[in-house]
Amino acid sequence: MADIDYYEVLGVPRDASEEEIKKAYRNLARKYHPDANPGDPQAEERFKQINEAYEVLRDPEKRARYDQFGRAQGTPGTGYGDFGGFGPNPFEDIFDMFFGMGTPRGRRTPGPEPGADLQIVLEISLEEAARGVAKVVEVTRAETCPACGGFGGEGGAKPTTCPVCGGRGQVQHVQQTALGRFVTVHTCERCGGTGQVISQPCHRCQGTGRVKVRRQLEVQVPPGVDTGHKLRLSGEGEGGRRGGPAGDLYVTIRVREHEIFRRDHNDLLVTVPVGFAQVALGATIEVPSLDGPAKLHIPAGTQSGSVFRLRGKGMPDVRGYGRGDLVVTVQVRTPTALTERQKALLQEWAALESEHVDAGERGFFQRVREALGGKE
Ligand SMILES: [Zn+2]
Ligand SMILES: [Zn+2]
Repeated sequence: MADIDYYEVLGVPRDASEEEIKKAYRNLARKYHPDANPGDPQAEERFKQINEAYEVLRDPEKRARYDQFGRAQGTPGTGYGDFGGFGPNPFEDIFDMFFGMGTPRGRRTPGPEPGADLQIVLEISLEEAARGVAKVVEVTRAETCPACGGFGGEGGAKPTTCPVCGGRGQVQHVQQTALGRFVTVHTCERCGGTGQVISQPCHRCQGTGRVKVRRQLEVQVPPGVDTGHKLRLSGEGEGGRRGGPAGDLYVTIRVREHEIFRRDHNDLLVTVPVGFAQVALGATIEVPSLDGPAKLHIPAGTQSGSVFRLRGKGMPDVRGYGRGDLVVTVQVRTPTALTERQKALLQEWAALESEHVDAGERGFFQRVREALGGKE
């Protein structure tokens, strides 16, 4: 190597401050970086010189020695020339480590990235749940950019290896001090650690590879669904990046409470008010069902709270296993706002009832007396 003047190499005066040296180095390193000048041996040589100069001038101690003795010849043990254990080719390994020009071990090339799944809640009525329904839902999602196909480069250009870190995503900075050699590693600022850069970002997505879109989608809700059931719409989630597949859309069903019916799995529960005379004498009454009014026969002597089942009048099974039942609870309505004639009839009935004491009822009051009286 010909003798070189480090100050000349960096283009700074001999009394330049540390800050000036650093600034000059940064500008020159960027300009002569091999990735910016591919296949140019002169630029590469210049780049090595710039690094060599900076390694010395940035360190006050080395700089002082350089000012006094001139450039080291790289021979260890000569006193002034010993800048540390770099070996015969001192700057090659700095070059390799700092700029990742060596074997790209551990290089992470980002591959296809699948889109995320999305979740929405769809509220439907009980009638809709019973019959099944087609619903239109609206989702806002990030879709693969149609202009660049998700690669982020203008016209679909694929990202290239980051020129700063050589695709490693990290840069190592080697610092030679009087105490020894220090290596610091940090995330590459140019590529943010991905090891890939886009020279011209896509105008449509600004290089992100995806665009936000509002979409209306039709959801086929099968008969028999219940609150908490999830329907999967394959490929209707967020779009993938760099050729990755789209995610799925999950539609969680919520069935609104019904005014009349309660649901217990596939059974529908309903409470029906009945007249005092109807339960006493027996009657055929009308009960509501999802298919319209249904007939239910209640026998004479039915008690309030009795439960009747109408088979197959409940909800359809979501997997197609038939239908549940309609479970009817009868609740005896105590009459209010009686007419004179009704009052007269009931008084007559009450008079008859006191003469006709039912054995079952006597048994009941007997049991109450025993339970409350205890030790008698
Ligand atoms: Zn794009
Ligand atoms: Zn990088």
